[in-house]
Amino acid sequence: MANREFYDCIIIGGGPGGLSAGIYALRASMRTVLIEKAVTGGQIVLSDEVENYPALGSLSGAELGQKFLQHAQDYNLEIVSQEVVELVPGLENHTVRLADGETIRAHAIILATGGSPRKLAVPGEDELYGKGVSYCAVCDGFFFRNKSVVVVGGGDSAAEESLYLAKLASKVYLIHRRDKLRASMILQERLFADPKIEILWNTTVSAILAEGEEVAAVTLEDTQTGETRHFPTEGVFVFVGFDPNNALVPAGIKLNADGYVCTDEKCETGIDGIFAIGDLREKYARQIVVSAGDGCTAALAAAHFVELRRHAQE
Ligand code: NAP
Repeated sequence: MANREFYDCIIIGGGPGGLSAGIYALRASMRTVLIEKAVTGGQIVLSDEVENYPALGSLSGAELGQKFLQHAQDYNLEIVSQEVVELVPGLENHTVRLADGETIRAHAIILATGGSPRKLAVPGEDELYGKGVSYCAVCDGFFFRNKSVVVVGGGDSAAEESLYLAKLASKVYLIHRRDKLRASMILQERLFADPKIEILWNTTVSAILAEGEEVAAVTLEDTQTGETRHFPTEGVFVFVGFDPNNALVPAGIKLNADGYVCTDEKCETGIDGIFAIGDLREKYARQIVVSAGDGCTAALAAAHFVELRRHAQE
């Protein structure tokens, strides 16, 4: 397999952070490639509606993802559809190995691999995935029209997806382990006002049960009394948080206790020339606008780093 030429900057991940980094990297005249294994646009393309990306009002996640992609393409960002299997840091430059065996080297790497939905880790969850268990209301909600479903979680994702599902399902039971939601107030107000949504407080799902091949019920547990009950439902939507996709982060880069990458204010990790941005990076707010901001910061810092490297090697 022929090796590609050397790049100034390789961006791994094509969500809002990675695409924003691509725009800024090209504006800084860095020879840049972005590598994405799945859908360019990132997790947001699965969102029904995004209404907090400043200046754009309300639009679908797919539309916003397309806008990010189009903007990066306007700068002729090179995008490779491949899986990165390894990132090997080096003193002179860094090497990225792709699933097809190809290797690409660069002065700077921007890791923008985001995160993945966390599982509930209860009996029945894995076996019934795609048979009533889902992690994406926009993808699968259609199959639950006029059916009764449960949503598990208490954050922004659980709230947003419950509101979306309430437009399709006959009833949405939002199951939360505490007596207070973590979701933003504006979403909470909408949840409380929606007649199709009922919140079951202080409750967890301890098993997902099937009849034949499909989900038929869950076992609910009261977190205060420990009592359990059989609760019929046709769909289980799980939104209990998010784990960073940190498998490519090389040894020697510090992660916090939850697996997020620790960086400085330039989004640079402890290894020179390797940056981490977006939902992979330890930070206060996991928002699209913050990921885009991270992309800008890392690309500008990477451009400065590349310039110094070039001078040093002349
Ligand atoms: P999150 O904010 O971490 O919330 C996860 C929820 O799941 C929490 O309510 C948590 O309960 C509950 N939970 C965790 N593990 C559980 C378990 N094993 N069993 C039952 N419940 C469990 O995750 P998220 O909602 O996916 O959001 C992730 C990040 O993206 C957040 O920073 C969020 O603000 C952001 N986000 C923003 C938007 C938006 O702005 N429109 C939309 C989506 C996501 P506790 O509350 O008891 O911990």
